[in-house]
Amino acid sequence: LIEMRGVNKHFGELHVLQDIDLTVGRGEVVVIIGPSGSGKSTLCRAVNRLETIESGTIELDGRPLPDEGRALAQLRADVGMVFQSFNLFAHKTVLENIMLAPVKVRRKKKDEAARRARELLDRVGLASQADKYPAQLSGGQQQRVAIARALAMDPKVLLFDEPTSALDPEMINEVLEVMRQLARDGMTMVVVTHEMGFARSAANRVVFMADGRVVEDRTPEEFFTAPRSERAKDFLSKIL
Ligand code: ATP
Ligand code: MG
Repeated sequence: LIEMRGVNKHFGELHVLQDIDLTVGRGEVVVIIGPSGSGKSTLCRAVNRLETIESGTIELDGRPLPDEGRALAQLRADVGMVFQSFNLFAHKTVLENIMLAPVKVRRKKKDEAARRARELLDRVGLASQADKYPAQLSGGQQQRVAIARALAMDPKVLLFDEPTSALDPEMINEVLEVMRQLARDGMTMVVVTHEMGFARSAANRVVFMADGRVVEDRTPEEFFTAPRSERAKDFLSKIL
């Protein structure tokens, strides 16, 4: 579904993505881990063209990412993104947050968008919170709304960039559980996370990045029981 070949990017002198080759198949869950500054967020952002690349190719569904215009808006609709900070609209209700993009971008009818939004809220366990404002919800609830909002566009793939890093510990699991359920339902997901339990239990592959490179790309069993690189061994010894 996603195919990156020979992707390079610099920020000034910093070679933040170095010859990245990465494929994500339909229905796959790929977890990206690695030290701070290794390029994980930049890689995710490149996939929905929040960052441009200098060389190499990124294809979605066999087509190169578009540069601009309607095709780019379509790409952003097809590639959902969930961030560490939930980025909900504070002055809109939970239901309105979820309906907004389907109505504006997908041109859905309001009543249909509302019906779908309620369905999605039910799916993330928040059916009773539809008319609340984001500030009235816990962090874990807000993040689940953000996931429902991303799902409302019927994306082909969902990118998660440290979705639980801003949450209090007791709220992390409710978000991971929603993500596990999405994985079981066959959603294609790319997840940057430090939650190794999630990586072990939900990932088809673990991609370990360091200094802008993909250093390892293997099954979780292989990666966690026998990392090949010194960088990965060192990283795991610090966080496990
Ligand atoms: P973290 O685990 O801290 O989120 P990361 O692996 O997601 O790290 P990136 O955010 O992709 O890392 O950043 C990789 C490097 O690129 C970092 O050194 C960062 O400071 C630098 N960087 C990121 N965005 C920019 C930017 N817009 N301009 C200049 N440098 C940037
Ligand atoms: Mg990051």
